[in-house]
Amino acid sequence: MQGRRPEVSLLSLPGSCLWRGLGGTRVTSALLAPQTFLRAQATWVLKWERLLKAIGMGQVENLKEKLISQAQEVSRLRSELGGTDLEKHRDLLMVENERLRQEMRRFEAELQELRAKPVAPCTGCEHSQESAQLRDKLSQLQLEVVENKGMLSELNLEVQQKTDRLAEVELRLKDCLAEKAQEEERLSRRLRDSHETIASLRAQSPPIKYVIKTVEVESSKTKQALSESQARNQHLQEQVAMQRQVLKEMEQQLQSSHQLTAQLRAQIAMYESELERAHGQMLEEMQSLEEDKNRAIEEAFARAQVEMKAVHENLAGVRTNLLTLQPALRTLTNDYNGLKRQVRGFPLLLQEALKSVKAEIGQAIEEVNSNNQELLRKYRRELQLRKKCHNELVRLKGNIRVIARVRPVTKEDGEGPEATNAVTFDADDDSIIHLLHKGKPVSFELDKVFSPRASQQDVFQEVQALITSCIDGFNVCIFAYGQTGAGKTYTMEGTPENPGINQRALQLLFSEVQEKASDWDYTITVSAAEIYNEVLRDLLGQEPQEKLEIRLCPDGSGQLYVPGLTEFRVQSVEDINKVFEFGHTNRTTEFTNLNEHSSRSHALLIVTVRGVDCSTGLRTTGKLNLVDLAGSERVGKSGAEGSRLREAQHINKSLSALGDVIAALRSRQGHVPFRNSKLTYLLQDSLSGDSKTLMVVQVSPVEKNTSETLYSLKFAERVRSVELGPGSRRAELGSWSSQEHLEWEPACQTPQPSARAHSAPSSGTTSRPGSIRRKLQPLGKSRPVPV
Ligand code: ADP
Ligand code: MG
Repeated sequence: MQGRRPEVSLLSLPGSCLWRGLGGTRVTSALLAPQTFLRAQATWVLKWERLLKAIGMGQVENLKEKLISQAQEVSRLRSELGGTDLEKHRDLLMVENERLRQEMRRFEAELQELRAKPVAPCTGCEHSQESAQLRDKLSQLQLEVVENKGMLSELNLEVQQKTDRLAEVELRLKDCLAEKAQEEERLSRRLRDSHETIASLRAQSPPIKYVIKTVEVESSKTKQALSESQARNQHLQEQVAMQRQVLKEMEQQLQSSHQLTAQLRAQIAMYESELERAHGQMLEEMQSLEEDKNRAIEEAFARAQVEMKAVHENLAGVRTNLLTLQPALRTLTNDYNGLKRQVRGFPLLLQEALKSVKAEIGQAIEEVNSNNQELLRKYRRELQLRKKCHNELVRLKGNIRVIARVRPVTKEDGEGPEATNAVTFDADDDSIIHLLHKGKPVSFELDKVFSPRASQQDVFQEVQALITSCIDGFNVCIFAYGQTGAGKTYTMEGTPENPGINQRALQLLFSEVQEKASDWDYTITVSAAEIYNEVLRDLLGQEPQEKLEIRLCPDGSGQLYVPGLTEFRVQSVEDINKVFEFGHTNRTTEFTNLNEHSSRSHALLIVTVRGVDCSTGLRTTGKLNLVDLAGSERVGKSGAEGSRLREAQHINKSLSALGDVIAALRSRQGHVPFRNSKLTYLLQDSLSGDSKTLMVVQVSPVEKNTSETLYSLKFAERVRSVELGPGSRRAELGSWSSQEHLEWEPACQTPQPSARAHSAPSSGTTSRPGSIRRKLQPLGKSRPVPV
């Protein structure tokens, strides 16, 4: 038996797997390893025992020491395995986990409690926004807590696994230790036996020698076994080193898990603090809300109390009032009953009263009616009388009148002999004008002559009657005729400080209309047009370049109208000024070498007065045409050519046509050539019938203009002189058809030097109109007049 080789070789053991079994994959081999190791150790001790037996007690002591050191090594290894430390860690972690779980539960309970609490909606509360933010933060934190919980449970699982593994290792260690104890026991027993044996052997000397010999024989074998044992020991030490390494790794793992746990704990602490803060804020907010609520309740209560007090007081007052009112109510009821009785009889009384009042009113109405009838009859008679007077006036004055106005000498006339005055007047007769032309005096007789001293008002007074007749429904034409610079525009328009006929006429119309406003309803409208090169244009229109046409009214009345001609209703002087200003800007004006400003077109201001007689409903329409004619100067003198020549020809033609029409009207010819020019065609209504025409011939007084003055005055006198009987008229009017109005010179009208033309005995046609003028019968269609 002593010579037997160990049954199990340590080299054949699965040493490399010994500690790997801790990972949990090779548990069986790991469990086997310490047992095998102990078994090998036992075998090794046995061998040593044998050796000790051979070498004696000293060697045995050495072996014992070695055994003790081996046992210490085993216990050290056991402690190094860290079973107890791991257990401590595990326990600590479990305790910590438990604590954390409890805290979590506590927080969850608190949270639920908070959620369950009804939060009073406080719209507009300054905390509501903060509260919402806190709630959001809380839910975020809750999410994070859930995540951390997950992580914690993972860690717990890991710790649990490690704890399980530790328990296994412990079990294995316990087994190993038990086995080792048994083996120790056995070895010590055997050692004792060996001692006894050695003692007995010592007693038997010869056999010892044999044994020594045997030992010597076996010595080489033992040495081999020793080296093997050493190798195994070396291997074991390596194993131990590996174990240590593994232990170290595990320690590191444990440390990192500790760190993680610490981090998690810190996070949890942070969340807790945030939760706590949020909770605190919520509590504060709720507290403040509660306080607000309480305060509001208190205030409402106080108010209610005050109101109640007031109501009570009122009630008391009302009660006292009621007490005092009751007797009054009784008297009122009595009064009411009395009145009720009276009211019952009232309809009868009323009926009677109504009957008598009706009768009285009827009588009064009848009286008023008869009065009215009488007044109306008188009024109509007055109107007829007025019309009669007017017609008489017209008959006396003639329906075509010609006046002359001589402008003063102005700076523009210059100095020297050319600017000397060539016009003189008759001190006794305001219808005579003398002109010194080329050293020869020429006299003309017109209806009226205004000297340069005459004011705008003087001239206006002369035309005033015509303008008022317009209100009665007559058509009136006032023309300003004369060479450029003779004062046509001054007479018609005037200056802003000293207005001419146009503005004064409208002012007069306004005041007349206002005077008659109780009986008549008048509307005054204004149009402004221009005839330039035989083209009619609207001066108040938005497009003054547009060419307008004159058309016959489609109603068959024979009246003319201009489609598209702008008409403004005017009610004040301001309105008129605006209209004139607008018209001015649209008007075409050109320069010539005769005068600085020369108008090459006819400017017409057409004022229409429409009236309705309030009592009779009769309607009247009167038209006042105020015409500033284009310059009548002759082409040759103005030096015009090209377009200027064309302008002059057009002007010449239209002025001739005007002369022709006036002549035809005054001689009561069957045909009046209205259509020969735009001007006469447009004014047809206002020139024919019982219309009135006034021609203001403007005269320049200076020497250099005497030729043009002479022609203008001739034209004026001729216009005026054609008021004769039809027979003679026809003979005289032959030359009026000439297109050159200035070329016409009636045979009977040759001015006699130094003799008054009107007084020339040879010319019956030039005598004063009042003496020879016959009453003219109205021609054509009459304007409606109030009759
Ligand atoms: P026309 O229109 O015939 O070309 P204007 O009316 O423009 O002539 O008159 C030419 C100039 O003579 C203007 O400066 C005007 O003020 C002046 N004038 C015309 N008539 C008078 C008058 N009666 N009193 C004062 N100045 C006048
Ligand atoms: Mg002018």
